[in-house]
Amino acid sequence: MATTVRPHKPTFFWQAFFILLPLVVLTLFGLFSLRQDRLLAEQAARAGGQSLAQQLAQAIGSESARQLRDYREASFDLEANRSTDLGLSQWKGGAIDESNAWQRVNQWQQANPEIDLLKQPTVEPSSYYEQQPETMPPQPPPWLSELNPQQQQLWQAAKQAEFGSQDDSQAGEALQKFMASNPPEGARANAEYLLLLTKTRNQTDAEAVSHIAEFSRTHWGNADEHTDAGLPLGQLICYQALRRLPDGAGLPESFIRHHTIAWMIQYSASFFSPVLISEAERVARGTPQAAYAATLKSWWQANATARTVLQDFCEQYPTNTWKPEPFWVSSRAGKYLILLGDRLAVSTNEPEPAKPRQAYLMFPEAVVKHALAAAVKNSELAPTPYARVELELGGKTVALSHNQFDEATNSLLPLLGQANGQWQNLPLNTNVYPFRVRVALVSPEILYAHQRQRTWLFGALIVFSAGAAALGLFAAWRSFRREQQLNELKTNFVSSVSHELRAPIASVRLMAENLERGKIPEASRQNEYFRFIVQECRRLSALIENVLDFSRIEQGRKQYEFEPTNVAALVETTVKLMEPYAAEKGVALQWKTPDLQPPAFLPELNMDGRAMQQALVNLIDNAIKHSPKGGTVVIEAGNTKDGTTPAVMLSVADRGPGIPREEHDKIFERFYRRGSELRRETQGVGIGLSVVKHIVEAHGGRVTVQSDVGQGSRFTIELPVISQKQTKETKA
Ligand code: ADP
Repeated sequence: MATTVRPHKPTFFWQAFFILLPLVVLTLFGLFSLRQDRLLAEQAARAGGQSLAQQLAQAIGSESARQLRDYREASFDLEANRSTDLGLSQWKGGAIDESNAWQRVNQWQQANPEIDLLKQPTVEPSSYYEQQPETMPPQPPPWLSELNPQQQQLWQAAKQAEFGSQDDSQAGEALQKFMASNPPEGARANAEYLLLLTKTRNQTDAEAVSHIAEFSRTHWGNADEHTDAGLPLGQLICYQALRRLPDGAGLPESFIRHHTIAWMIQYSASFFSPVLISEAERVARGTPQAAYAATLKSWWQANATARTVLQDFCEQYPTNTWKPEPFWVSSRAGKYLILLGDRLAVSTNEPEPAKPRQAYLMFPEAVVKHALAAAVKNSELAPTPYARVELELGGKTVALSHNQFDEATNSLLPLLGQANGQWQNLPLNTNVYPFRVRVALVSPEILYAHQRQRTWLFGALIVFSAGAAALGLFAAWRSFRREQQLNELKTNFVSSVSHELRAPIASVRLMAENLERGKIPEASRQNEYFRFIVQECRRLSALIENVLDFSRIEQGRKQYEFEPTNVAALVETTVKLMEPYAAEKGVALQWKTPDLQPPAFLPELNMDGRAMQQALVNLIDNAIKHSPKGGTVVIEAGNTKDGTTPAVMLSVADRGPGIPREEHDKIFERFYRRGSELRRETQGVGIGLSVVKHIVEAHGGRVTVQSDVGQGSRFTIELPVISQKQTKETKA
């Protein structure tokens, strides 16, 4: 059984594979190392963040607690100073004899100019402050309900006499009567007060003031009683005195000496207290006592604010939510941080009276901010630019930095590190107050900046490599395709050559055999046979010559022998040489000899005559092949008419089928033959024109074609006259 073994068809796969492989490896490696880079950056940031958080927790724990202690001390000193100035130190537990107490307050104030210490509430209020008497409506005093009916009658009568009639003696009598009925203490005090008013009504202001001042001194014991309308009696008495003084008259000397106003307010602060204080301010305005009045006011303010804050705190945080942690309270007086003292022993089940006194520490938000910022600043720990330090304190997260303290808006940022810290040794407490420092990644773009830069670099590198690889791939693919096409052409060439050789050899052999066997007796036919044999042999050798020349050209071994040659003679010989072949094909050759005027035309050129003849033979052979029977092939010689370089032109024209324009270049390529191998009618192997081109170019000239389908073809060889190639190619 006959089998055919098909040769293995080459593929482009491996070339493409090895061109692309480095690119893929580079890309994978790049991506891997970029990822690694990112992980390393992250790891470093985490480690840095953790240690920063720990260090900051410690720094904040010690430094901000110290700041808060300083504030508390200054505030405490201020309060004590006020007590001393207002004569309340007895109540505060004794006068402070420390002479530098004011100095400490001033020092603190100078160091912290952004916080006005005088306006801050008392730092250390106690349960006593949980009520806000100044906001409570006046209540009828207990003594009013304790009066028996007779006393009630007498009291009404006395009041009527006092406020209804103009007769002071009548009013005095009614009051005396009431007092004689032995009313409760509070009622008696009120009667005495009304009596005082009756007595002083018609006195001069100066007399009245000294009278009332004296009265207030001798009636200390009744200072905390209230009128039947619920007004504090002690403060009312003071007010009655001040009321009779003009602006800037100065406070009564006895009020100052005995600290009457402050004491009266201290006994029973109420909504009336601010009225009394502003009255005191009015009277003291412009006098040396103005400072006293100002102290009175700021003392009142400090306590009133503390009461407001504390009351709001108690409302916002019922005792059952208390824990040993700082509390942020948003009160009507602003934001405060409240710390519960260690006397905390509150049971929610206990009834109100059993509630033990609770001590508090109250820090304005600004003070806390300042303390925390100072702690960060003093720690000299620089947070990295991509991280934000957050502090979780009292259930609130705040962003911290050297000069900034904001409520954190987004606490869902990736965490780089965190540490717990605590405030210790705050006064009056053994409690510790926990907080947490967190370092969060706030701008990944800064953290990964380096990595991003590398990504760009790598990306550029990969794009560049991909570009180069694509170019390489394309070039390789093109040459692979060319190689394949050439292989195909070569295969065709081999079969064409064999085909071209087989037919003439067979007919020559047949004729020679016939002659040899004496089958052709007639001399005329014998001659014809001989001529035919010679003709075929000439054609064969021309073909072989072409093939050999072609292979020499391909191998770079083709040699040219340049010598002066008469062009006209050369053309003529060649035409003669081709005539028998043309005649056989029924084609006429017409050699149009030019109007020669030597040496202007067709001079003797330095050329390889044999090679040039071969070129002409190839052109004339093609023209004969493609001419229809009875056609004419015209061979012309001439020279360039317009060109600056004088050149000799040899042209071969036929009236054959012509060549489409787009193939004008291709036909000069080796092995190129027009049409499909199967349909081709003309003989040939596809190297004739490429040999012509090589020969002509070796002479420094060029070969061109003018043709179109159905128009015939004209091939022209152009040879320069002056700058002829003199070189003799030597064997490589
Ligand atoms: P071949 O041996 O096939 O003639 P050539 O290199 O001489 O090889 O010519 C290449 C191709 O050019 C031919 O196959 C033919 O199709 C075309 N050709 C050459 N000369 C002519 C012509 N005078 N008229 C038409 N076609 C031509």
